Amino acid sequence: MMLFIDGALCSFENLTSYEMKNSFLFLLAVVALGACQPTGPGVSDTAILILNANVIDATSGNVHKEKAILIDSGRIVSIGDGSELSALVGKEDVFDAGGRYVIPGLWDMHVHIEGEDLVEDNRALLPLYVAYGITTVRDCASDLGELVLAWRDSINNDQLFGPQIFTAGSKLEGINSIWKGDLEIANEEELEQMLDKLDEYNVDFVKITENTLPGDLFLTSVKEARKRGYKVTGHVPYDLSVEELAAAGFSAIEHASYMLRLGSDDSAIVDSIRSGKLARSEAGQVYNSSFDQDSAFVRYKMLAERGVAVTPTLIGGKQLAYLDENNHQSDAYLKYLTDRFTSKYQWRIDRMADETPEQKQGRKDRYQLILEQLPYLHKAGVTLLAGSDAAALNTFVYPAQALHEELVLFQEAGLDPLTILQTATVNGAKFFSVQDKLAGIVPGMEADLVILNSNPLDDISATQDIFAVVNDGEYLSRQKLDELLQRVQVIKEELDKGRKTE
Ligand SMILES: [Zn+2]
Repeated sequence: MMLFIDGALCSFENLTSYEMKNSFLFLLAVVALGACQPTGPGVSDTAILILNANVIDATSGNVHKEKAILIDSGRIVSIGDGSELSALVGKEDVFDAGGRYVIPGLWDMHVHIEGEDLVEDNRALLPLYVAYGITTVRDCASDLGELVLAWRDSINNDQLFGPQIFTAGSKLEGINSIWKGDLEIANEEELEQMLDKLDEYNVDFVKITENTLPGDLFLTSVKEARKRGYKVTGHVPYDLSVEELAAAGFSAIEHASYMLRLGSDDSAIVDSIRSGKLARSEAGQVYNSSFDQDSAFVRYKMLAERGVAVTPTLIGGKQLAYLDENNHQSDAYLKYLTDRFTSKYQWRIDRMADETPEQKQGRKDRYQLILEQLPYLHKAGVTLLAGSDAAALNTFVYPAQALHEELVLFQEAGLDPLTILQTATVNGAKFFSVQDKLAGIVPGMEADLVILNSNPLDDISATQDIFAVVNDGEYLSRQKLDELLQRVQVIKEELDKGRKTE
């Protein structure tokens, strides 16, 4: 048990319940004597108490029933008996969870806050993440890199309301890539210059993609960024094997589509590409025709041993593969997204316009095969990170909602609910080595919580039925969350209207 009193930490860890009771009495005595000089009775006047909570430990899956959670100044102070803790806060700061289920705030480990002409649109969407129970996002770089870094800091300083952001800022790429606002490098000297820039930005990790970046410079980038202590994630170039990247210390592979390469002799295919015997444009077909599930599983174990995590990002591929079967025009979520935001969806739709029925079927088959890899990856011991890849450029991958859809896809793939919950909570915290501060419901941790109406360990779609959210220690009831959503809708309508008259 820990209590923070006016900044002073009184620790009551590893005590028996008898000792805790005595400590509690001692604390009350201390409070009475004014030794710790609390604003209120024992805690500050911002303290809140959540009663009758079934607290889910996302690491063990244990459910601690009928607990009270005392929260003060953004942190969990104590978890214990409601009748005892009730004495510490005013009646108006007590919230009854009514036997509902409390999980750590959710993490979306792959989003892009992007679009130079979508600054207001993206800012308006920040509260929406919180309203959907997502209290932390990992931004995987965009053309708004510097702005996202500023937003990250503003949110941390309570000047802006939104989820906690970890960001790569701007990503490393080759010269003349298709991506806007990336850091393009042609040689090792430029690599070091850009890494200096990322140091200055104080980014949380380094993202690298392969549009025009040659494999050898990609590999050097991974090694150099690792030397500077960064986690490094990204795509896998055709002229590098997954194993080479893993050996170089790659922290995570974004998109499970790259896993299909491991069902083939990846190193041999990469060698043929390097020697010019195989064209990049033909590589996909070679990988497809030689995919073997058993071989893939063996190589997944290699990834697990090397500590390489995978962010599957299934929902985007699904939306595109089933575009011909699903009409998204009346999706309820569109009420939150400006016309300008959703106009960016068109490029991927146009790109697919000339696909033959065979190509369309091929896309679906490929999506299904990727989905089927999840249980194999999990069984092999690979850490999975739940990420939606929500971005204006990713068609019908709706910010915030898409993470919940992604979790349901994990369940469809055959992962058990506890494993899925971990992909969206503790695994993210472990990735950034902040598991002692975030994504746990124990004293001392940051108070980011979601209260669900049903048990997510029975069915992960329970994450979509939110009773309340605690974001950075602030309790947001269902009514408050609905007000946040309403506000997002109003801003969308205002932005659309203003732009029509421009
Ligand atoms: Zn992405």
